[in-house]
Amino acid sequence: MLVKIGAPLLSGVFGGDVARLSVRAVMAPFVAMEREHGSLILALEARAAATGSSTPADRAGAAEATVFTTLHSGLGTLIDRMVSTIAATPAITIRRNTAVSAIRRAETGWQLETASGPGHFDRLLLAAPVDVAQRLLAPTDPELARLMKIDASSAVVVAFGFTGEAARSLSIPPGFGFLIPPEDHAAALTHVPMNTLLAATFVDQKFDGRVPPGGRLIRAFFGGATADRLLDHSDEAIAEIARDELAAILGPLASPSVTVVRRWPRALPQYAVGHLERMAMLHERVHALGNLWLLGNGYRGVGLPDLIRDSRAAARAAVIS
Ligand SMILES: Cc1cc2nc3c(=O)[nH]c(=O)nc-3n(C[C@H](O)[C@H](O)[C@H](O)COP(=O)(O)OP(=O)(O)OC[C@H]3O[C@@H](n4cnc5c(N)ncnc54)[C@H](O)[C@@H]3O)c2cc1C
Repeated sequence: MLVKIGAPLLSGVFGGDVARLSVRAVMAPFVAMEREHGSLILALEARAAATGSSTPADRAGAAEATVFTTLHSGLGTLIDRMVSTIAATPAITIRRNTAVSAIRRAETGWQLETASGPGHFDRLLLAAPVDVAQRLLAPTDPELARLMKIDASSAVVVAFGFTGEAARSLSIPPGFGFLIPPEDHAAALTHVPMNTLLAATFVDQKFDGRVPPGGRLIRAFFGGATADRLLDHSDEAIAEIARDELAAILGPLASPSVTVVRRWPRALPQYAVGHLERMAMLHERVHALGNLWLLGNGYRGVGLPDLIRDSRAAARAAVIS
């Protein structure tokens, strides 16, 4: 179960080495199911029995629900809308593309140094990547910075867009894509043993409205040590490796009309065993400093829903405090 199902699913989210992840930190609902019912199978049976007693309308709704959702207008429009809403709100200032270079505790609140000058703030919600936040807070509280140290996995993503005859020539199986179990890497990809694809998404089959009619979009995902190794390669070299690896699984790939290579260095913090205990200590330390909230994917979840939930709670707490 771990090798064939758990590891590929978790690698698709966290990228790194599944054997080091804390099950309580990355799969809390499953741990709760096991605790409550004695085993995952009993928990699933209990859930199925409960679903069985729901109305036909409920069951139809459940069948239509999908675990994957995104914005029709594209995920980037979430940021665009947030920026325009903030910019249109009187008495709120937003300074984009302005790196914070230092943070100091002030008599009340916090003093920030930025390229466009200093600023004093009563409350600080710090949502920089955990590595950056750690560096910025180290002079104020070295112990806090120590608790923020975390391993992170990189990702490299390559998207191939196909149109016309090239799109029609592809033989893509149904479904959202595939994940490759770790032990199958070498077997599936013997011709390129050094670079191992972790997953691929058939984007046009996963989400509506992502390609023009008749187009196809395949996204290859590299994580862990492979991604670290690929980060320094040129876009062309990465795209060639991705194409070779996809072709080894899907069959020959025609020339894409669009190729996009994206690098995400250290983008996915690894919640290793002991993470929850470390977070509890970090929380106490942050609380003691006062008027500070640490947000982002290094602490209490890496998925966007987790991050939004966490940020909302912090914003409420900051307003009340
Ligand atoms: C390839 C990939 C695929 C993913 N797919 C999904 C998915 O399908 N679903 C999902 O829910 N999650 C997904 N995730 C996870 C999710 O996207 C991330 O966990 C999330 O975007 C991280 O948000 P964040 O706010 O913590 O960090 P970021 O979005 O990186 O934000 C940090 C911000 O801090 C800014 N910053 C950095 N340094 C400074 C500084 N000195 N001063 C001021 N600002 C600074 C940066 O410019 C940036 O805007 C994926 C992640 C990756 C890498």
